[in-house]
Amino acid sequence: MSRHSKIFIGLITGAVAGVASNFLFPDAEFLKIVQTYVSDPLGKIFLNLLIMMVIPLVFASLSLGVAQIGDLKKLGRIGFKTISYFFLVTALAVTLGLILVNAIRPGDYLQGETKTQLLTSYSEQASQIKEISEKTEFGIQTLVNIVPRNPLAAVAKPNPEMLALIFVSLMIGIALTMIDKSKAEPVIKLLAGINDVTIVIINIAMKLAPFGVAALIFSVTSRFGFELLVALGMYMVTVLSGLTILLFGIFSVLIKIFARYNPVLFFKKIQTVMMTAFSTSSSSATLPTTISVSQTNLGIPPQITGFVLPLGATMNMNGTALFEGVTVLFLAQVFGVNLSLGVQLIVILMSVLTAIGTAGVPSGSIPLLAIVLAMVHVPVEGIAIILGADRMLDMCRTVLNVTGDITCSAYVARSEGYELKTD
Ligand code: ASP
Repeated sequence: MSRHSKIFIGLITGAVAGVASNFLFPDAEFLKIVQTYVSDPLGKIFLNLLIMMVIPLVFASLSLGVAQIGDLKKLGRIGFKTISYFFLVTALAVTLGLILVNAIRPGDYLQGETKTQLLTSYSEQASQIKEISEKTEFGIQTLVNIVPRNPLAAVAKPNPEMLALIFVSLMIGIALTMIDKSKAEPVIKLLAGINDVTIVIINIAMKLAPFGVAALIFSVTSRFGFELLVALGMYMVTVLSGLTILLFGIFSVLIKIFARYNPVLFFKKIQTVMMTAFSTSSSSATLPTTISVSQTNLGIPPQITGFVLPLGATMNMNGTALFEGVTVLFLAQVFGVNLSLGVQLIVILMSVLTAIGTAGVPSGSIPLLAIVLAMVHVPVEGIAIILGADRMLDMCRTVLNVTGDITCSAYVARSEGYELKTD
């Protein structure tokens, strides 16, 4: 049986078991025991196994990718295409979100008691997020931090500064193209070795994926308050329809036009990536799978995947940007804050920028979302309203984040004259 079929079975089994236990034994003690001692630790171990290799993988694949591109002019061209694609598609995603949220106006459906109830049930988490967001630097200091004074310190912490890691890896890759070939060669071999080792470890971890995925999904669905689906129905419909249009509409067009590839075949070939993103809610944890599937199934050359995909997992969050735009306007509608067209343009800009700064981990965007809310004078405490539904939406938007990265690398590869695999 293929890997993606096994993961799919894990996904369905976890979801069915989780939803069933949620309905049948909502407050049962033994369900809590299963969650605490079985599904939570299993899911976390699986996630950690994947995330554990992300720093060496980003470092090795990015510096190697740059060194293999070799020529600085070519690197500049590929870099320009990649970054412009990220910006344009992310801005397109937020704009789509804003059009939908203005048309559907989900905020008008959530008033009265349900609103108060949601605000109070999640008020504690909301004030914690508010505190974190107040401490989060976002502005000129974010830009300064991209160039780390101490690269090891920048990554040796629970929330590593991925943009700093990217900067250092790029610099090392560039320097490798500038030194003597005989000196560069052993370093390149070492980087290639580290790269291969991380991929092998990830492959071992992915053998556990069907179980890990089942555990992760069980943990979410067995706890999820399904009544929230009704309370936040129109909001969820707005976000999910935006994500669906983006995935199957806009991405399909981009794949057809820019990568000159059949979109149906494209989605078929990247199923494992989409399922891994959905169940882990983490672009970073999915990165190794994204790289190996793009190379093996789509035939995108390693120097392109090595450059575009680590950058994408950190900077390119199309689904997240759409979600942020919709959420800011939804909460503004709930609280009766009128956002003029000018302010909505600020929301677009801020959603694009904060999506770049978002960590590719579950709920990575929430503290930054709080920053955007504060900036446009929508009550930050209002975030409590959407917190209960966030994990479900996170699973979905992460699929878009990761798929967007692959569409970009397919485009860059094609535009650089490489053929993609169609068999
Ligand atoms: N979970 C998302 C990701 O890893 C980030 C977010 O939207 O919270 O791509």
